[in-house]
Amino acid sequence: MGTAEREEYADVVIVGTGVAGLYSALNLPRDKRIIMITKSDVESSDSFLAQGGICVLRNEADYDSYFEDTMRAGHYENRKESVDIMIRSSQAVIGDLIGYGVEFQRAAEQPAEGNPAAAAVHPDEAAGHPAGQQVSGDTDQDTEKEGLLKGYAFTREGAHSRPRILFHEDITGKEITSRLLARVRELDHVEIWEYTAMTDIIVRDGKCTGIIAQKVGKDGQPTDGRAAAGTTADRDSAVQAGGTIKIYAKDTILASGGIGGRYKHSTNFPHLTGDALVIAKKHGVRLEHLDYVQIHPTTLYSRKPGRRFLISESVRGEGAVLLNKNGERFVNELLPRDVVTAAIREQMEKDGTDHVWLSMKDIEKEKILKHFPNIYQHCLEEGFDVTKEAIPVVPAQHYFMGGIWVDSDSRTSMEHLYAAGETSCNGVHGANRLASNSLLESLVFAGRAADKICKDRGWISEDTRGQSGKQFRRQGKTDTEYMETSDDTREREDIA
Ligand SMILES: Cc1cc2nc3c(=O)[nH]c(=O)nc-3n(C[C@H](O)[C@H](O)[C@H](O)COP(=O)(O)OP(=O)(O)OC[C@H]3O[C@@H](n4cnc5c(N)ncnc54)[C@H](O)[C@@H]3O)c2cc1C
Repeated sequence: MGTAEREEYADVVIVGTGVAGLYSALNLPRDKRIIMITKSDVESSDSFLAQGGICVLRNEADYDSYFEDTMRAGHYENRKESVDIMIRSSQAVIGDLIGYGVEFQRAAEQPAEGNPAAAAVHPDEAAGHPAGQQVSGDTDQDTEKEGLLKGYAFTREGAHSRPRILFHEDITGKEITSRLLARVRELDHVEIWEYTAMTDIIVRDGKCTGIIAQKVGKDGQPTDGRAAAGTTADRDSAVQAGGTIKIYAKDTILASGGIGGRYKHSTNFPHLTGDALVIAKKHGVRLEHLDYVQIHPTTLYSRKPGRRFLISESVRGEGAVLLNKNGERFVNELLPRDVVTAAIREQMEKDGTDHVWLSMKDIEKEKILKHFPNIYQHCLEEGFDVTKEAIPVVPAQHYFMGGIWVDSDSRTSMEHLYAAGETSCNGVHGANRLASNSLLESLVFAGRAADKICKDRGWISEDTRGQSGKQFRRQGKTDTEYMETSDDTREREDIA
């Protein structure tokens, strides 16, 4: 552990540079000093890995169905208020993303015909999970009326009653996160320190006043203060100079992702080890549902150690089927993830195997190459041509529904400490996450954390913040009206 200790002062410190961290930074005013830290390089976050897509409320007629799908997948343990906020905010967030330059698949670019594989209905589908709907390229009449969403293609994943997922090939997370990162990099008031790990928070009189951080190397281990070679942190003298850094801040946002690094088999980056949760627990910050861990049914089976490669659920949404060792289907592939996982495990036990098979043979080759080029290429490198043969798949740890308890403004139980994204638990996902809800949930509630900080501090100014999302989140109020109707009575404090 480094011995030298430096002190830095920021208005807001954000731990994590995934979608939650980046979007909250973009929603804070430009006259404030924002420091973001990440334990690794900026591109090593789960946000970059997201494949399938991001959900959106397509139109008012879809509200009840989207709400019910989210609740059903979550075993009705979801916080209804949070689900409502997420769904109602979804179009505004997508509007922001498009404004930041994110490109989603257009309907005209997709083959318009329906999906032959999805039309072969499995018996379980009679139980309320129809799989035979039109998927990508859906251009029904509602879609035509959908203003902001007009002309986009929608795909579908497990437990969704209809296609409502926007996507960019099979690298939606990379498309969204790299665009957000590029916008943040344009901002002079936001600094990003790579290879800098939070080791604790600073607490004074029961309130959070910042964080303690330490330089780490590429292996995630503490260094003597030198940044890993070739990183942007090399150029940051404030970071280079000391081993331990105290960053005092008026408000702190924990956006440090999931816990997959603690598992042997996970789709997550190994450095995502739930550090914020351990620190929160130490300080008596409320945690929730620590046992709610989602296992993804389909990751590419491998004997090699390390991160497991995800085979996105939207592959099954487009018609891929699961097969046992005799080449027979054994489950409706579009049931919720926990149900499909249980069925695969049962099948593996019956068959005496350590994987089952996933066949994409009923998906047109052209569609595979266009919609899933990343999956196609990766499998090819592992020796499987998905256009010709089935691939071995196995469940692996994927997502954490529990986390640091937060209210609907992403406030934790400690004053001036916020949490957003996978590290937090605002109750949206209940006991099991509906596919493609997590990018959206991370963005919506990261934006709300930033909004709440601004509101509490009196920082809102029209000229620095004017994207569509802000107005929507405040239910149509202008910034001035919003401030006037704020019920906030919390004392505004300066940092310690
Ligand atoms: C393979 C894969 C595919 C997925 N596909 C989808 C999908 O299609 N749709 C969808 O909605 N969701 C998907 N998800 C889930 C989604 O990507 C994540 O839930 C979401 O991106 C989490 O964002 P985040 O900002 O909370 O965390 P992350 O993006 O994981 O970022 C966490 C950040 O915290 C930093 N950090 C961690 N600990 C520390 C520390 N101690 N100090 C400093 N920094 C720290 C990390 O370095 C990183 O920058 C997928 C996830 C995976 C793994």
